[in-house]
Amino acid sequence: RVHDNACVARAAALRASGAEVVPVFVFDPTFFKTSKRGVARLGAARAKFALESVEDLKTTLKALGSDLLVRVGESEDVVAELTLTGANERTIVLTQTEVTSEETDMDVRAEKKCTAVARTGGGDARFERIWGSTLYHIDDLPFELSDLPDVFTPFRNKVESKCEVQSLIPSPSNGALGSVPTSAGNFEWFPKPCDLPFATPKLAQDCAALISNGVDERRAMDFKGGESQALARVKYYLWESKLLQTYFETRNGMLGGDYSTKLAPWLALGCVSPRYVVSEIRKYESEIMENKSTYWVIFELIWRDFYKFFALKYGNKIFHLHGTCSNRSAAWREDDAALKAWKSGMTGYPLIDANMRELKNTGFMSNRGRQNVASWLALDAGVDWRHGADWFEHYLLDYDTASNWGNWCAAAGMTGGRINKFNIVKQTKDYDPQGDYIRHWVPELKDVPAAHIADPSQMPRDLRDKIKLNYPNKIKLPQRSYTEFGSTPGPKRDGGGGGGR
Ligand SMILES: Cc1cc2nc3c(=O)[nH]c(=O)nc-3n(C[C@H](O)[C@H](O)[C@H](O)COP(=O)(O)OP(=O)(O)OC[C@H]3O[C@@H](n4cnc5c(N)ncnc54)[C@H](O)[C@@H]3O)c2cc1C
Repeated sequence: RVHDNACVARAAALRASGAEVVPVFVFDPTFFKTSKRGVARLGAARAKFALESVEDLKTTLKALGSDLLVRVGESEDVVAELTLTGANERTIVLTQTEVTSEETDMDVRAEKKCTAVARTGGGDARFERIWGSTLYHIDDLPFELSDLPDVFTPFRNKVESKCEVQSLIPSPSNGALGSVPTSAGNFEWFPKPCDLPFATPKLAQDCAALISNGVDERRAMDFKGGESQALARVKYYLWESKLLQTYFETRNGMLGGDYSTKLAPWLALGCVSPRYVVSEIRKYESEIMENKSTYWVIFELIWRDFYKFFALKYGNKIFHLHGTCSNRSAAWREDDAALKAWKSGMTGYPLIDANMRELKNTGFMSNRGRQNVASWLALDAGVDWRHGADWFEHYLLDYDTASNWGNWCAAAGMTGGRINKFNIVKQTKDYDPQGDYIRHWVPELKDVPAAHIADPSQMPRDLRDKIKLNYPNKIKLPQRSYTEFGSTPGPKRDGGGGGGR
């Protein structure tokens, strides 16, 4: 994005003092590789979303008189190629500060390589890491990172009472970044799905098919990547539809585009800034109305901050089986049958199956759905929760390393916070009482009456026969309960290096 972007503002300032600015986006193979548990990290739908976002950014930068160089390759190689080597020449690499190890390691490698390359000809290079992804700026936190509260409420209370959200950084004016030096590379080139370093050729084909045919018609929303689409969604959700003012009542929905903001994919990729969203909400509150709903979107954005800072505090522990807990452990299992049924939406639990099918077919799942499917896999099936986090990483359009792994770790009870084990049947009755959402994704259940939709296994035999029910029986689960969470500490390290992802 160009709005509220500290890197862009810094680039404009450097330009004003005579520098040439080369905006560059790199599709790095690290993000496409296969996880330790064998799941390709980046699926077709998020790749499509990323391509759209990068294309949109290129269009915006061109309109400002600049451009975007798009490359596929190791970031360190691309940065090294762009580094100036002449005596007295200086290269400054501006990059957003990241919080998780693979991303920060990537920056370190790129920094080393680019400074070494610059020196070969007597030049000089340096990296500037600039904070930019959270609502509250890291420098404004009213505590040291090591004192970050381990649970959300005290974190929220502290930031809300003791720090201010910084003002928006103005977008660059026309010409503020200058024109790009054409010698920096081929600005005409833009990757197609087949140019991306997908883990398998099939994913490139799937991505191309999504681009030409669109996403499953049953989708909650037609997500399209890019800053302009993100800003349009903010405008729609706040100003055009005024859905903002009913968010608190609708936020636990599962069907359709309107029950929640759906801003997560754009926030995750940086297409929209959380400060911008909050500044628009504040404007709405002063111009239209303020209520619990208008506040609650801000409340949710503070969750996002919490997981970002939590990841920074705990480092690779959020990827480890026993998480950040020093006083709790559990006997996680490998259960191929349960995992396969969960992934394909064939567990025999309609709420789980509907949500898992939505994820696989569209790249999105509601927060209510995520909580339930995570609880089922980790706490009912007792399966190593990292399989779930991997699956989400592959499919979610809004995959965000800190939010995904932090939420999974917490859902599995491995951050030491309260364990939320959901009763799936009760959740169905509470959040999909008529079964509209379930029938949307599990057509096999279209004739099941509302009274039985939460648990068709309890339907009388004659009714099952009458509607010719063709839906799996509930998969057999281990007899497992909270008490199996021991109070002994988990192993110090597991999952190995590379972040354990
Ligand atoms: C197991 C699990 C995995 C998750 N993985 C991700 C992920 O990879 N990326 C992601 O953005 N969110 C993740 N979430 C959080 C949440 O489910 C999504 O942010 C939300 O459903 C996205 O829809 P929305 O934009 O309409 O959210 P809204 O309800 O409109 O909320 C507004 C924004 O607040 C933020 N937010 C809300 N809840 C959370 C939360 N619990 N943690 C962090 N941020 C939150 C998001 O940025 C969201 O866009 C996960 C939740 C669970 C339980």
